[in-house]
This record gives sequence, C-alpha cells and structure tokens, in this order.
Amino acid sequence: MQNWNDVIRLANHGGPAPEHRVEKTDAEWKAQLTPEQYYVTRQHGTERAFTGEYCEAHEPGLYACVCCGTPLYDSRTKFESGTGWPSFTQPVQEKAIRYKKDTSYGMTRVEVLCNVCDAHQGHVFPDGPPPSGLRLCINSAAIKLVQAQKEAV
Ligand SMILES: [Zn+2]
Repeated sequence: MQNWNDVIRLANHGGPAPEHRVEKTDAEWKAQLTPEQYYVTRQHGTERAFTGEYCEAHEPGLYACVCCGTPLYDSRTKFESGTGWPSFTQPVQEKAIRYKKDTSYGMTRVEVLCNVCDAHQGHVFPDGPPPSGLRLCINSAAIKLVQAQKEAV
C-alpha cells in the first residue's frame, strides 16, 4: 500500500514503467474525446466541483482511464471526501499511475497522471483516511467505470 512518503519518492525519482504505452497526437485525442474530457486529461484542466458523473457513484467496479482504458482505481478504495470530486485512497496498482511534482498556480502539489498515456487525472494529497492517508482527488471526466466481473454466489 502506498503512503505519502511513497508518493513523494515516486514523484521525485519516477516509478515502474507501464507494460505498454499509448501515444497519440493532439488532434487524435481531440477527435476521440468529448471537449470536457479533452480539457481535463490533455490540457490539465479541472472540472467544477460536484458536477462530475462519478462524484457520488458507489457502484462496484474498476475505474479506467477515459483516454486509453487502462484500469487505474478500484471502487473499493473510493471514499466520500466531501470535496466534490471522486476520491480514492490508492491506485489499483503502483505502475498504473505516475506522480509528478506540479508547481502551477503558486502551489506545490503532486499531479496524478495515467502512466500509460499521460492523461491528467487530478492531484494527490496527504489528508486521506487511514491506513494509507492518501486522497487521490480525481476528475470524473478523466475516468470511466468498468463493471467488475460478477462474483460467484
Ligand atoms: Zn491513460
């Protein structure tokens, strides 16, 4: 399980490489995505709080990158943060996500990116619930819910 020290280490030194990469031109991304998805994932935008599709979602499943379809988060790590954005305590696996130091807007934050296609996801903060203490604050426009396989009864 990742904690804040792991996030800082990964942001400073890089993490494991993904199994494959998805790279497209700006025009290709623009053609594939809705304007909102394009703005958030390719232009590092932020959707308005409490407007996103998955802000209040509780269905089980995996959340995949809206750009490349790579599973990034598990609904079991989703929690109610009250911030107006979907919030997770962990990525689904370490190599799914890339952390990057972000000093835009006069703040020092850690950006969360899809490790496969570099889609901007959101930011990670050290004020999440235990045991990880992480809050991955993610834009709904950057993800899509993929239903998990039905569990055997
Ligand atoms: Zn991606």
